[in-house]
Amino acid sequence: MTRLDAVIVGSGPNGLAAAITLARAGLKVQVLEAHDRVGGAMQSAALTLPGFTHDIGSAIHPLAVASPAFREWPLHAFGLEWVYPDAPAVHTLWPASTGSVTLERSLDATAEALGRDGLAWKALLKPLLADWEDLLHDILRPLFRIPSSPVSLARFGLRGLPSAEFIGNTVFQTPEAKALWAGLAAHTTLPLSTPGTSAMTLVLTMVGHAVGYPFPRGGAQSLADAMTAYLKFLGGEVLTGVNVRKASDLPDARVVMVDSSPAVLLELLGERAPTAYREALGHFRYGPGIQKFDYALDGPVPWLDERVRRSATVHIGGSFEEVVQSEAANTAFNSPRPYVLAAQHTLFDPTRAPAGKHTLWAYTHVPNGSEVDVRPQVEAQIERFAPGFRERVLACRVTTAPQLAAFSPVMVGGDVNGGAATLWQLLFRPHLAVTPYRTPVRGFYLCSSSTPPGGGVHGMAGYHAAKTVLHDEFDLHEARKR
Ligand SMILES: Cc1cc2nc3c(=O)[nH]c(=O)nc-3n(C[C@H](O)[C@H](O)[C@H](O)COP(=O)(O)OP(=O)(O)OC[C@H]3O[C@@H](n4cnc5c(N)ncnc54)[C@H](O)[C@@H]3O)c2cc1C
Repeated sequence: MTRLDAVIVGSGPNGLAAAITLARAGLKVQVLEAHDRVGGAMQSAALTLPGFTHDIGSAIHPLAVASPAFREWPLHAFGLEWVYPDAPAVHTLWPASTGSVTLERSLDATAEALGRDGLAWKALLKPLLADWEDLLHDILRPLFRIPSSPVSLARFGLRGLPSAEFIGNTVFQTPEAKALWAGLAAHTTLPLSTPGTSAMTLVLTMVGHAVGYPFPRGGAQSLADAMTAYLKFLGGEVLTGVNVRKASDLPDARVVMVDSSPAVLLELLGERAPTAYREALGHFRYGPGIQKFDYALDGPVPWLDERVRRSATVHIGGSFEEVVQSEAANTAFNSPRPYVLAAQHTLFDPTRAPAGKHTLWAYTHVPNGSEVDVRPQVEAQIERFAPGFRERVLACRVTTAPQLAAFSPVMVGGDVNGGAATLWQLLFRPHLAVTPYRTPVRGFYLCSSSTPPGGGVHGMAGYHAAKTVLHDEFDLHEARKR
């Protein structure tokens, strides 16, 4: 057997992105995946009843469409089709009689619907949208790099440093704008009073206006499958059902890239990892977990407000204050009205359920590692905005935080971001370093969402880690592109 240039442990979005980036440079790469299917948290499966396709992890993919890495790859030629709902996201308001508020693709339309907060919404977002592509390029990578757009990055930094609660209270006055902002901020999985939570909120709002909140037709698995097909076209190999537990499980390769947790990386490095490095990684912190609910439904969710059907992404949250309280309690069992993030794909993609039937993908935040079943609280919250929901449920699969952690070692305790998304840890993860993908052991690199820029399906951790490998190990500064 000829020696591989690189072996990539794990086929999540970051592992596949790393493999594609190396293969595009002409290197011989192999991906090893513990599961029988590729994709990591991009997998889909019939989790409830035959004929219903559910996304095991990621459901909505604005960051993939906006990602500088994904934008380089011709994935449409390998079977990927994006579905664009009418509006990126809808937030259910309380009292329910007040309806809902919508994040429209158009900045002007969103601002118009926000009434006297319209100007404030525009003032916050418009300067960032002016050159969002360069800005995203600067944000979705390690901090210590020369920015392509320093002025935009400075504007973003000023807006992103405060907590989302502070921005919500000081910039907006109307219940609609405040609730819309809080629902977007709750994606951070952190209490909204945490400094820096505005940064991720701004990114998600900006990409909503810039590219929308699309998802792959047929399930997130289609995205993983398209990436795999492209990788194979480039000459890469993918082996599934291979759980790499120790270094001796690895094939002969010049470079090893690990799309897994820092703990798994340390296992593979064994005694070669210096104590100082072990200690540095030991300080890496995980955020809250999630508990997930996959429903097979007899019909669409019976929303009180018909306008909620305009989007696949629904923030079931009520008022700004309710969302703030729910995320501060950080647990569905401490909050009687937990924030629930939901996706109703089948309104726009009938391939995912039998004719006339529907799915609902939903999760709420729970303490890291919690096993307490919060289904009653979550369904009570959905019922507030969609009375009669429970009668439509044909089947429900509950996935607890520990079950999620068992699915992917990256999601320690059910933390979907692969490490708390605090400002510090977004900039420096999994430890303070200029190029955190490198390890002290020559030839070993970490490339999962536990490295910058963190969680989400954007592939940018894998992409930047692979660029580092090309530079360090192969003296290739510009990838040969195919
Ligand atoms: C329930 C849920 C909902 C989410 N929703 C969204 C969303 O809507 N939009 C969005 O953008 N993001 C979402 N995310 C976040 C996003 O999915 C993750 O941030 C992203 O998948 C992380 O990618 P990764 O490659 O770092 O890790 P993963 O996707 O976890 O992939 C890691 C892969 O490596 C494999 N692996 C690890 N160690 C080994 C080993 N030793 N040997 C062999 N294989 C190994 C694992 O089996 C796994 O397949 C969600 C995540 C979850 C769990």
